[in-house]
Amino acid sequence: MRRTTLALGLLGTGRSQSTATPAPSQEASQLENKLREAVEKGATMEEIAKLKTPTIRTPEEAIRMLKVGNARFFGGHARRPELSANERRAQIITQTPFAVILGCSDSRVPIEIVYDQGLGEIFAIRVAGEIVEPATAGSIEYAIAHLKTKLLVVMGHEGCGAVKAAMLPEKERNGEPENVRFLLDQIVPSVSNLPKIRDEKARMREAVIANVRMQVKKAGENPVVKAAVEKKELAVIGAYYEISSGQVDFLETEDELSVK
Ligand SMILES: [Zn+2]
Repeated sequence: MRRTTLALGLLGTGRSQSTATPAPSQEASQLENKLREAVEKGATMEEIAKLKTPTIRTPEEAIRMLKVGNARFFGGHARRPELSANERRAQIITQTPFAVILGCSDSRVPIEIVYDQGLGEIFAIRVAGEIVEPATAGSIEYAIAHLKTKLLVVMGHEGCGAVKAAMLPEKERNGEPENVRFLLDQIVPSVSNLPKIRDEKARMREAVIANVRMQVKKAGENPVVKAAVEKKELAVIGAYYEISSGQVDFLETEDELSVK
């Protein structure tokens, strides 16, 4: 397993502060040299694409990559990784994202930015309330079956309007347009029996996490997801993004993910 010093310090915490911005890895600059040489030699796009082998090989490495990237983001040291012109050209042949992330459409939660990832790294699916329904499930299946993505993350966030709307009385929800009602109906079961929590902020957090757990469960029941998990080629986890701090809390264990 490839481990960087920065990654080691952050493993499993999700809350550690990162202060240093690591230099681009040796691996990345070697790849850039190889690409430059290939272009100079007049290599075809197929030959160039073959040079860019995926560096993330396991679900654990994918999770670590996201944790380290988020720590860079909330610590104010985002790299905003960009690709060289050669690397961008090589991307035309194929994509090898290491994670598929189902997140909310909320404008304050742009997936690649909060994980500090660049082009070709994340297969992003965004829909209000990060719900698993036929279209999002189809995108997930595609990423797993065809792109061999190692990790599926369902990410909710602080102050989610979709979850909040799903908690309104049925009469009020019925006033919404048809497709919004469909969307809210996918969230309602996870938020309708929440324990009474007085504090509004804490109550909303519980509701968002309850929805994340429910959507993770739904995703886990998908036959393509299930088969990949059984073969240990894929992990399915949840995440909660805090808008105010920029930090992501990960839900990884069976207990953290179980529908309460
Ligand atoms: Zn939202």
